[in-house]
Amino acid sequence: MTITTNETHDASLRSWVQSANDGRTDFPVQNLPFAVFRRKASSEAWRGGVAVGNQILDLAAVLAGKGSDHFGDAAEPLQAAARETLNDFMGLGQPAWSALRLALARALREGAAAQADLQRCLVPQQDAEYRVPARVGDYTDFYTSIHHATNIGRLFRPDNPLMPNYKWIPIGYHGRSSSIIVSGHDFRRPVGQVKPGDADTPTVRASERVDIELELGVWLGRGNALGEPIAMADAEQHVFGFGLLNDWSARDIQPWEYQPLGPFLAKNFATTVSPWIVTTEALAPYRVAPPARPEGDPAPLPYLDSKANRERGAMDVHLQVLLQTPQMKQSGEAPARISQSNYKHAYWTFAQLVAHHTVGGCNLQPGDLFGTGTLSGPTLEQAGALIELTAGGKNPITLPSGEQRTFLHDGDTVILRGWCQKDGAARIGLGECHSTVLPARAI
Ligand code: MN
Repeated sequence: MTITTNETHDASLRSWVQSANDGRTDFPVQNLPFAVFRRKASSEAWRGGVAVGNQILDLAAVLAGKGSDHFGDAAEPLQAAARETLNDFMGLGQPAWSALRLALARALREGAAAQADLQRCLVPQQDAEYRVPARVGDYTDFYTSIHHATNIGRLFRPDNPLMPNYKWIPIGYHGRSSSIIVSGHDFRRPVGQVKPGDADTPTVRASERVDIELELGVWLGRGNALGEPIAMADAEQHVFGFGLLNDWSARDIQPWEYQPLGPFLAKNFATTVSPWIVTTEALAPYRVAPPARPEGDPAPLPYLDSKANRERGAMDVHLQVLLQTPQMKQSGEAPARISQSNYKHAYWTFAQLVAHHTVGGCNLQPGDLFGTGTLSGPTLEQAGALIELTAGGKNPITLPSGEQRTFLHDGDTVILRGWCQKDGAARIGLGECHSTVLPARAI
């Protein structure tokens, strides 16, 4: 079952926070995403916040003052969402998330009686720093774009690009949660074992092929008991929301290590996530049918199929990758767009990922994270990784600065953006996810 629209999505709603009414903001009053924050360079306690325009509603400050009087039915979710991670709030489940969203939407809209009490609970986003919004117990990365799977497969296995299981199973691997970092934190170029095609033996060195993967992060909410699968009909109720995710990948480490058990050190050195989680409910106006499966493709097996999923299982989210080199930073040049795609092209929906992950009885827990896999679209400009954009490093891309890139250089900053937009609904955005590649440690 998909979540439907309600009064919180009304496109005509305005907020008493003026910056939320600017049509270009990612965070109008119809969005209301959650993060964990504190004031920059402070030793304040981390606490939950809600983005509205260019401000953060500080939920701990709301609780501490008279602001909490305006949250009647949503008192319990408000307390849970104000904590130093969102796990408790995520574990409360869809009715609680929805109750808090409704209370926030009513308290933040123009003319709300709550304005006087909540105004003093705002912190400007430019003064804030963030942390990964939940303790991630487990992180699973999927492979839901058939375009990415085919492009990558062609480079790694020219004679056999798409494995025969792809159209039957949502392919994934269990990743590392310890190296998930939040946007704005940088990471070192990894060192690892590589074996160039013409070498007899491998060597250990800094990766020369650090790449991006444009993905969405799917944040799990209420979990399931060990041994109790989640059916398609219930799957979306377990998904708290979505953020941006960059699954940094070392393309020279990957081919030597990935068979037979899948990605390992090529993927475990860093994964960057955006600070804000846009709830599944906020995204309700942007649900669309998944792409029709081409003639001859198998229908999903019954445990991966439902009428609601066929009708509205996908989501129309515009995605962009931008790159800024050290030279561009020095000359004050803005980041350049190197790719644009959309989540709606994915072959497998997020409900199918939940149903598949749990069909054997695996338990999901609040704060678990799925990566959708690189969200490449059908055309080359829509590829979500440099390995695709440059045909395996053979065709460099040229930036407006005149510089060329196949893979990332030290000091390069990559920025992911995502947003939803259509007539009759408020434009909402996912914010930004950015990190810079730092030089490798000496071996
Ligand atoms: Mn990935």
